[in-house]
Amino acid sequence: MDPVHIIGAGLAGSEAAWQIARAGVPVVLHEMRPQVETFAHKTGDCAEMVCSNSFRSDDDEMNAVGQLHWEMRAAGGLIMSMADRHRLPAGGALAVDRDAFSAAVTEALRAEPLVKIVPGEIRDLPDSGNWIVATGPLTSDALAGSIRGLTGTEALAFFDAIAPIVHAETIDMSVAWEQSRYDKGETEAEQRAYINCPMTKPEYEAFIDALLAADKTEFREGETAGYFDGCLPIEVMAERGRETLRHGPMKPVGLTNAHNPTEKAYAVVQLRRDNALGTLYNIVGFQTKMKYGAQTEVFRMIPGLQNASFARLGGIHRNSFLNSPTLLDDRMRLRARPNLRFAGQVTGVEGYVESAAMGLLAGRMAAAEAKGADLAPPSGNTAMGALIHHITGGAEAKTFQPMNVNFGLFPPLDEMRGGRKGRKDRYPAYTNRAKDDFRAWLAAQ
Ligand SMILES: Cc1cc2nc3c(=O)[nH]c(=O)nc-3n(C[C@H](O)[C@H](O)[C@H](O)COP(=O)(O)OP(=O)(O)OC[C@H]3O[C@@H](n4cnc5c(N)ncnc54)[C@H](O)[C@@H]3O)c2cc1C
Repeated sequence: MDPVHIIGAGLAGSEAAWQIARAGVPVVLHEMRPQVETFAHKTGDCAEMVCSNSFRSDDDEMNAVGQLHWEMRAAGGLIMSMADRHRLPAGGALAVDRDAFSAAVTEALRAEPLVKIVPGEIRDLPDSGNWIVATGPLTSDALAGSIRGLTGTEALAFFDAIAPIVHAETIDMSVAWEQSRYDKGETEAEQRAYINCPMTKPEYEAFIDALLAADKTEFREGETAGYFDGCLPIEVMAERGRETLRHGPMKPVGLTNAHNPTEKAYAVVQLRRDNALGTLYNIVGFQTKMKYGAQTEVFRMIPGLQNASFARLGGIHRNSFLNSPTLLDDRMRLRARPNLRFAGQVTGVEGYVESAAMGLLAGRMAAAEAKGADLAPPSGNTAMGALIHHITGGAEAKTFQPMNVNFGLFPPLDEMRGGRKGRKDRYPAYTNRAKDDFRAWLAAQ
């Protein structure tokens, strides 16, 4: 049987290799480190964790990433089993001894007879064969150039510019209202596509003060090359002048406050729908490098968002990722070249766990294909399914930015109470439904 080739032995590539080998299919894993280095990796080991040593919450009842852990364990995932083996005390989180973890993943793959690890950079996308590209946020320049050659320059970003994303049900609609600027759009849905949060002058001034005073994160050395092409953080805009935001993303023009039509807002914060389900909204133009704690505090100063719950907070990082909603099918194959599958952070998921989960799926799908079968993704009710459905279809392609797993990606349960108060009942209902569907998906293979 022809082997499946994987480019990149990170979190995703390592998991994919394991799944393929376990399915009885030979696999060749190509890794450029340590010959070619990145600014973040320090070793030549597989599945190196480049920053924090945490896989986040391990609560598979009340937390979406904990549910993803559960699914990866249920599917015999290598990353989770080695994380469990090298777990460190961290309360409800799954933290690991990073060196022991990576060494164990490397050893397990080296010991697997069907896995061959081949050192060296792959500089060009291959024309034939069954390949998985799992080269991560720091995809080598040569390969990124080759990907851009095939997909177009705009389709592979080098930086993310993540605006915070809010659970729609936590926006106070007695303050905010739905309206597109100048009521633009053919249909009523388009004319009401944005949620608007009005600010008075004192509220705006206090907001700018808080932005300027907030703690920020810094870029790492080597991270910034090519940055600042059209994605300035809001705090940098505010530093350029107190009025800059009011003439940029917070301009109040073309909008009438539905609750108070005669009063002109001094500034308006707009939120735009972020997924087809309509459960998530991003704050338009609010990419930021404020620290997470500061973001929550500052963004809850926005009228209408005083009780907002955030599905994800903002950030700007060096990050190579595809515009997956337009480029990939739901088997994670490049539509234009179906012998190429993508997995991990380069598909537009974010985080160690999400990346490994997409490696798990891509590995199983590639192995099925190598054996002449077809494997559909798990249902959108599961954490893995919710993620893959988001990146390959549910997300807005025009504004696509990397996504963590979160309950906002799960189809709502109609009978359940919304809002922050309903979470105690709703989250276990989501995770129970996910477990049932995931078991059924595994059983059908
Ligand atoms: C600076 C930084 C900090 C981060 N901090 C965190 C964090 O704290 N928590 C978190 O969850 N996530 C963090 N991330 C995101 C994290 O990188 C991903 O979650 C995870 O590593 C992605 O897994 P992956 O397998 O897709 O990519 P990676 O783990 O990066 O693996 C990709 C692999 O491909 C190799 N490669 C690249 N190009 C080629 C090529 N042409 N040929 C051969 N091999 C190649 C790379 O050497 C690498 O080993 C951070 C990312 C960066 C850049």
